[in-house]
Amino acid sequence: MPIVLAVANQKGGVGKTTTAINVATSLADLGRRVLLIDLDPQANLTSGLGIPRRSVTTGVYDVVVLGRPIEAARMPTLVERLTLVPSSIALAGSEIELVSLPRREHRLADALRGLDPRDDYVIIDCPPSLGLLTVNGVVAAQRLLVPIQCEFFALEGLGLLLHTISLLRRELNPDLGIAGIVMTQFDGRLALAHEVVDEVARRFPDQILRPLIPRNVRLSEAPSHGLPASRYDASCRGATAYAALAAALDARLRSGIAAAEPVESSV
Ligand code: ADP
Ligand code: MG
Repeated sequence: MPIVLAVANQKGGVGKTTTAINVATSLADLGRRVLLIDLDPQANLTSGLGIPRRSVTTGVYDVVVLGRPIEAARMPTLVERLTLVPSSIALAGSEIELVSLPRREHRLADALRGLDPRDDYVIIDCPPSLGLLTVNGVVAAQRLLVPIQCEFFALEGLGLLLHTISLLRRELNPDLGIAGIVMTQFDGRLALAHEVVDEVARRFPDQILRPLIPRNVRLSEAPSHGLPASRYDASCRGATAYAALAAALDARLRSGIAAAEPVESSV
């Protein structure tokens, strides 16, 4: 059965989508079969893989809101072994539509039961909020991948995220754990960036993933070409850092190190 990861942080711009695309591509390059799910109405993940959101006829909306099977919405990408359930414009209204639907927090989890058992990983890119779409992503996941941007307000809001996770864990998904924290947009020339990393490492010594992801302009250019960073510029620092991080994450998850530890204890 696949390992289901949700990339979550209610802050926007911290690197969720960049992490989802590049970790997923790197895992596929390691030989794993990976399904990416774009749960964000902004569809940055979908467009970052070269698929215009307007062209999507069957996507995650059809799965989560209309209850269609996940396989009906799965499509290939330019990366071998990497498939996508895309976002679409229809998803924009789904926070409201979901409210009155049965099993509103479990709809993605329910859909994943119909998944192809040959998949090794499912990676869910959550929107920048703690609304019902993110709740669906987190409830469907076994482990969370939490990107944190190496900047001053990074830790602000982390407490809220961890509190929400502990509530979801208690009420809806008791087996939820943290797969790891991804430190993004690290600029080693800035003392502040080192301070943020030290603080996160002090609070979450077992969860911080290495290497740190550098601030790298190639990572921000690649999506506008519809490509993962490794297909845009294979030797750029961003692509090689994500490849190394994905290999470490893969080893960690397969050896069971990323266990379901209490997430609220460190806050
Ligand atoms: P989120 O999904 O959390 O909103 P994104 O992954 O979309 O965040 O990243 C926000 C912006 O920052 C995007 O324009 C992205 O290309 C850019 N970005 C993300 N990570 C990096 C990085 N390590 N270096 C440079 N730019 C980055
Ligand atoms: Mg995003």
